[in-house]
Amino acid sequence: MTAGAPGVVPPGDNSTLLIRSRRMVLPEGVTEAAAFVRDHRIAEIGDYHLQREADRTVDLGDLPLLPGLVDAHVHVNEPGRTEWEGFATATRAALAGGITTICDMPLNSDPVTTTVDALRAKAAAAAGQCAVDVAFWGGAVPGNLADLPGLLAAGVVGVKSFLIDSGLPEFPPLSREELRAAMSAIAESGAPMIVHAEDPAQVTVPADASYDAFVASRPPVAERRAIETVISAAAFSGARAHIVHLAAGECAALISSAKAAGIALSAETCPHYLFFAAEEVQPGHTEFKCCPPLRYAVNREALWRALGDGAIDMIVSDHSPCLPSLKGLSSTGGADGDFRTAWGGISSLQLGLSVVWSVARRRGFTLADVARWMALFPASLAGLSSKGRIAVGCDADLVAFDPDASFVVRGAELLHRHPVTPYEGRTLTGRVSRAWLGGVEVTPSGAPRGRLLARGGGPLSL
Ligand SMILES: [Zn+2]
Repeated sequence: MTAGAPGVVPPGDNSTLLIRSRRMVLPEGVTEAAAFVRDHRIAEIGDYHLQREADRTVDLGDLPLLPGLVDAHVHVNEPGRTEWEGFATATRAALAGGITTICDMPLNSDPVTTTVDALRAKAAAAAGQCAVDVAFWGGAVPGNLADLPGLLAAGVVGVKSFLIDSGLPEFPPLSREELRAAMSAIAESGAPMIVHAEDPAQVTVPADASYDAFVASRPPVAERRAIETVISAAAFSGARAHIVHLAAGECAALISSAKAAGIALSAETCPHYLFFAAEEVQPGHTEFKCCPPLRYAVNREALWRALGDGAIDMIVSDHSPCLPSLKGLSSTGGADGDFRTAWGGISSLQLGLSVVWSVARRRGFTLADVARWMALFPASLAGLSSKGRIAVGCDADLVAFDPDASFVVRGAELLHRHPVTPYEGRTLTGRVSRAWLGGVEVTPSGAPRGRLLARGGGPLSL
């Protein structure tokens, strides 16, 4: 930890911590254990009754202790669109939701993170106001091939691209040829190319304002064709590829067979695809709009099966807020949006863990599964090897989680910038009760202690 490096908040608290739980979620399973923390890292894991001289001892009893979650897909939007969302609000929401590391997307900030100068601007905007640790994705757009090695050397965790219009003219999509070239340029680094995989040739203009028409305009085949393009580029280039926000469950078999063939491919889905179904979206409720769209209940079943069998590796939020007016909604929601014109994106940093747990527990999954999907695998994707698990040598990012507490979502009580949420009024199960960042107990309202990280987990130094 380099105190004084740009954007790094000096830790300031080097005290030791001994923390016990009868349900500690370790990579090998849920067990009674104690963890001893020194210099912000987990120094030792032992029996529940482990005795060590520690400045603070915490006994959680039956309350489970999870690794702090890693959310590898967050649109913070600062600088440039801070009125949509910003580092202070997004990271406080993340912490309240049990997330101790986020990876910020290269859009929808202004500038977009497609050059080292833009990365500098983003790091300067983030410095000193982050409640959790923050790492950054770079972006690949037509014409910035020469910038990619510099971005990777500067510490981005990987590179994002689109195969379809992103909605922002300053972040245009890559052609197939450009995707191959960009992946060839980053292959040697080992960093992943993460791709918004919808094929524009399969997407149409919605026939009317209904939600069904919007879903029909972005069918599963659009995801399938784009994923085929990504697999082909991965095979050609040897680069690691990752499919963001997979929504079409039928693509799981395609992803599994590519993995079996030795392609370095992974995939994520999001809490909203696992929780909602298109059948329940009412007219005008554009708080449910995202791209690819929420699909029908039978598809949701396929996504859960794909998580269970490992075709889908991880769950991340794709937290992507905007001004309520851009969704055609008043600041408190309402039902007057138009699915054809509303900005897409669902904000769920603070809710993702509870959303996933509410459904996962009913399907027989355990907290160990959730920790693998929401901490271990996203950390691995982003090359943050000291994150995402409770293990000796890892950062002591820890979350106490009450798996039986339930609560009703009220958008106005959420900590991200705008209260619009499709989860309004829903009852969720599982609530974060305490969190530690680098072994120091933290709260969303406390002084921000988050650091800016580079791929590998060291400080971002620009
Ligand atoms: Zn996104």
